[in-house]
Amino acid sequence: MRGCFVGVDFGKTNVRFALSEGQPELKYFLKRPYPRSSSDQMLRQIYEGTDRTLAETGYNRRDILGIGIDVPAVVNRRTGVIYWGPDWDFMAGSSLTRPISERYGVPVVAEVDTVTATWGEQWAGVGKTCRRFALLTWGTGLGAGLVIDGKVQEYPNHLFPEFGHSRVSDDDWPCMCGANGCVNAMVSGGGIAKHGRLAVENGRQTLLRELCGRDPGKVTSPMVFKAAERKDAVGIEILNRVAVLLGRLCANVVLTVQPEKIVIVGGLAERCDWVLETINQTMRDNCWLLFKGLTQCEVIASGLGDTVGVLGAICKVRRTVEKRKEREVI
Ligand SMILES: [Zn+2]
Repeated sequence: MRGCFVGVDFGKTNVRFALSEGQPELKYFLKRPYPRSSSDQMLRQIYEGTDRTLAETGYNRRDILGIGIDVPAVVNRRTGVIYWGPDWDFMAGSSLTRPISERYGVPVVAEVDTVTATWGEQWAGVGKTCRRFALLTWGTGLGAGLVIDGKVQEYPNHLFPEFGHSRVSDDDWPCMCGANGCVNAMVSGGGIAKHGRLAVENGRQTLLRELCGRDPGKVTSPMVFKAAERKDAVGIEILNRVAVLLGRLCANVVLTVQPEKIVIVGGLAERCDWVLETINQTMRDNCWLLFKGLTQCEVIASGLGDTVGVLGAICKVRRTVEKRKEREVI
């Protein structure tokens, strides 16, 4: 049967479109920046990107079997109405799925990015060999996901695992969630930049001072990685602290759900070489189940790169379509 699924993945600044014939291999992948302004404009972007995806792969609208959308926001899984997202306030109260479903005449699902990434890893990544794993989305924030005995964990009230907001520090360090000292606030891209900014403001001798043009407000997380690459002591110290905090979080995850693997995805996953060893060592040192050899767990970087969101979105809508077909047969 000729047919295809379209996946759309909205990140903080980029949107990705992809097409699959139902397998975890993509026939098409497009990434580009997107402006955030209104729900109408978001819909127009989705229509334009979807139509372009079809045109460039030789498919047409009636070939689409379903469309999956990955959003950086809490979304009603049944209606597609966006509740809340740190950069998606302009979408609150709007259904992203209904107009798209009406336009293309197919099932459309929307899911929060952390759960979507978990579906992606389950389908095309670590889930191929692992029935029990945790996931950390490490980028502008620190999100979390869980697969327990082959089942992606989606919680009631459209929620999802949130151990990225575990408190790990007594520092007065506000998190976007409204709490203080969350691991999310301390280790995300913004958190890493803040560690760098504070080091410059406090007069530490560091390469960051030059990299930011002597303006501490301009320190970014890539600058901190760059400083560490050049063996800057402050850059290395910041990444080491971040790795220790991540390692402690991973120890708590192992104590709670005993995953076989913890996979790191997201924009900073490609920087994992800097922190993986320390994360794994800290996790082992802080988890008696590991240091007594009663369970095994390893923290690894995802191999799916930028495609994890679209793969997850396609996997999720494909499952929805299959379930509907099963119900029709019954
Ligand atoms: Zn938080």
